[in-house]
Amino acid sequence: MLGVSFLEALAAAVPPGRIFRDADIMAAHARDQAAWAPAGRPVALVRPQNPEQVRAVVAACAEHRVPVVTRGAGTGLSGGANAVDGCVLLALDGMDRILEVDEAEQLAVVQPGVVNDHLRAAAAERGLWYPPDPASSPWSTIGGNAATNAGGVCCVKYGVTRDYVLGMQVVTGMGELVRVGRRTRKGVAGYDLAGLFVGSEGTLGVITEVTVRLLRLPEGPPKTVVGAFGSLVAAGRAVAATAAAGITPSALELVDRYCLRAVDDWKNMGLADLGNVLLLGRVDTGDEEAAALRACFDEAGATWSTRSTDAEEAEALFSARRLAYPALERLGPVLTEDVCVPRGLVPEMLARIEAHAKAHAVHIANIAHAGDGNLHPLIVVPEGDDEARGRAQAAFEAILDDAVALGGTVTGEHGVGLLKKRGMRAELGEDVLTLHRAIKAALDPAGIFNPGKII
Ligand SMILES: Cc1cc2nc3c(=O)[nH]c(=O)nc-3n(C[C@H](O)[C@H](O)[C@H](O)COP(=O)(O)OP(=O)(O)OC[C@H]3O[C@@H](n4cnc5c(N)ncnc54)[C@H](O)[C@@H]3O)c2cc1C
Repeated sequence: MLGVSFLEALAAAVPPGRIFRDADIMAAHARDQAAWAPAGRPVALVRPQNPEQVRAVVAACAEHRVPVVTRGAGTGLSGGANAVDGCVLLALDGMDRILEVDEAEQLAVVQPGVVNDHLRAAAAERGLWYPPDPASSPWSTIGGNAATNAGGVCCVKYGVTRDYVLGMQVVTGMGELVRVGRRTRKGVAGYDLAGLFVGSEGTLGVITEVTVRLLRLPEGPPKTVVGAFGSLVAAGRAVAATAAAGITPSALELVDRYCLRAVDDWKNMGLADLGNVLLLGRVDTGDEEAAALRACFDEAGATWSTRSTDAEEAEALFSARRLAYPALERLGPVLTEDVCVPRGLVPEMLARIEAHAKAHAVHIANIAHAGDGNLHPLIVVPEGDDEARGRAQAAFEAILDDAVALGGTVTGEHGVGLLKKRGMRAELGEDVLTLHRAIKAALDPAGIFNPGKII
């Protein structure tokens, strides 16, 4: 039961009408898109309108030791935004103003609830470009992207969210509103605290404003190179060959037949006829690099390849990649992997994933930001089949262990949340986890921010 004094403190932190305690409203906001992660029961959902209101909510929660689970759009795939019992859900999607786009300095300052695509559109109007492009860009927020260090399709060449965050305003566990980082292109004054908040998944503080670096919009459309392969391992060989040849495509995505079929069944696009596994490459330099990429595909055993000059066709293929996850979700709960391995070991990792599918008798579909070595095996089981669910969970953990054994990581971009906690412990080891706990205790002494997530 919540104490009256806490509810009074909460009510004093925000204007009337910003606190919701209706069970249906809270339930609708109590979990992200990780269908397999558990979610607790919140005591209230709060929708602050500005950083000062966020600060006041956090201060009230810190004083009363009430957990705070911050939420952007709830598109996360690790359970990071899932409610914990007795928490306040802090929904920031309403703080969605683009505060500034500075053309000369090539930067933007945004509130955390700004949707990724909206920032990209506002930048494009001024000839500028915000590169991090998670497949969830139509919905996910910049606050959520920063808190998960989101990656995306073009990150193979242009880097992840961390590479674009210059500074932030955050609310700490002491209920203080502080600015970390900078606006300048360079700057090394003090520890990189803005970098620390990037990828912290709501466990160190609440991000109330983000300053991001922008690039000039690329000139001209990219060239698209598509290769079809008979097997996952053959496609993996093409990825390794591309890296070994020193080619840096601006996208190199993998989609397997299972995903193509799921998209076809949903959108009737006729994609599954193209091949067992597709590699979708983009090159934004010259023709020479596009030809070299295609040669890598062919030499690795592509059953066919093409350099598409048809922008519409190319866009359709990449949109199939974006639709793969929601298309699979229509078939049943999806357990999403996010391992990342050295690029030269992509064929080995894909072979191990296939072996685990067989050994555990589960169907594993694959999409991947293959050029980064970031693989998303997606394990789908029929709704309500507990036996299959147990086998899927075993395959999931075995894949995490293999990624670590190959010198990779259990999460390339989705974050640890609830689903990768065991895997992360195996990857980092006790000495590094001790450092994590020390940082958490320094920034969140009352332990209110997203307890039970990451560590
Ligand atoms: C179809 C689909 C495709 C996807 N594709 C990609 C992809 O290509 N690349 C990728 O990286 N991810 C991808 N994701 C995962 C997800 O979209 C990202 O993790 C995204 O960054 C989450 O943003 P969000 O606004 O939905 O955050 P949420 O899911 O609401 O929250 C994510 C985490 O961030 C914390 N958080 C959110 N806002 C704040 C804040 N202001 N301050 C502090 N903590 C905060 C939450 O507590 C939680 O731990 C995909 C998801 C879906 C459903």
